[in-house]
Amino acid sequence: METTYFNGKYIPKDEVRISPDDRGFLFADGVYEVIRWYDGFFYDINSHLTRLKRSLRELRINWPEADSFPTIAGKLLNFNKLEDQPAMVYLQVTRGQARRSHSFPSPEVPITSYAYSWGFSPDITSIETGIKVMLKEDIRWSRCDIKSVSLLPNTMSFQEACENGLKECIFVRNGNITEGSHSNIFFVSNGTLFTHPESNHILSGVTRKNILRIAQECGIKIREEAMQENRIRFVQEAFITNTSAEVTPVIELGGNTLGDGVPGPVTKIIRKEFYDEIKVLKG
Ligand code: PMP
Repeated sequence: METTYFNGKYIPKDEVRISPDDRGFLFADGVYEVIRWYDGFFYDINSHLTRLKRSLRELRINWPEADSFPTIAGKLLNFNKLEDQPAMVYLQVTRGQARRSHSFPSPEVPITSYAYSWGFSPDITSIETGIKVMLKEDIRWSRCDIKSVSLLPNTMSFQEACENGLKECIFVRNGNITEGSHSNIFFVSNGTLFTHPESNHILSGVTRKNILRIAQECGIKIREEAMQENRIRFVQEAFITNTSAEVTPVIELGGNTLGDGVPGPVTKIIRKEFYDEIKVLKG
């Protein structure tokens, strides 16, 4: 029986009861986080916790238990006997349950919090051989920096990619490539690594931040600058990053083959350094 976390208790998943008046259900009025367990440690959990607290603050959701997220995640692995294998933990926090109204409940109502864990196997084929991705106008709102559960443009766009046999949908806003439906994207052009700067148009990925650090440590030249769609022909390599895809090479972007159509040398160096770091952290 799968044990989940729900409003302070650890209970079987089929005992979780969420009200139809929950603002998460009615308005997607909530935030989420996903963290990865490398059978021994959670990857950069501090950055995930910082981002969770920022998202909550930006939406003015006051969840007093936020600092317990690492403890909650650890207990879920323990209850579900996942400590000795790769796993993920998902957490969602909403503004709680109240009669439907666009204004926030006043006085405040108890927050709804829910988390679950699962055993995870990475998509090794994509990581090793690379993926083909589509390009599409960024139809999302102007607060993509908040990890909100309001993900309809992301799910619609990703579905379109899937239906076209592609592994991610990359967004373009005013001619600038922002990020993917659930990933950040990096480009290599003449030896320099480019990625969109932190802004309200992208989610500041935990993997993105660590890859920038690793690339810098490797002596790779970095420019946190958006790649323009009309400059794709000057790109030799690209890769996406997120908690599950880690560093996944992109070999085709919007119908354009990148470089030789295989994972490029800079991507491979960064991916190797990322794994070397994981090995050290595992001990
Ligand atoms: N951008 C978006 C839109 C995402 O959904 C994700 C995945 N959470 C990311 C970037 C990558 O974030 P992270 O590296 O923290 O998983």
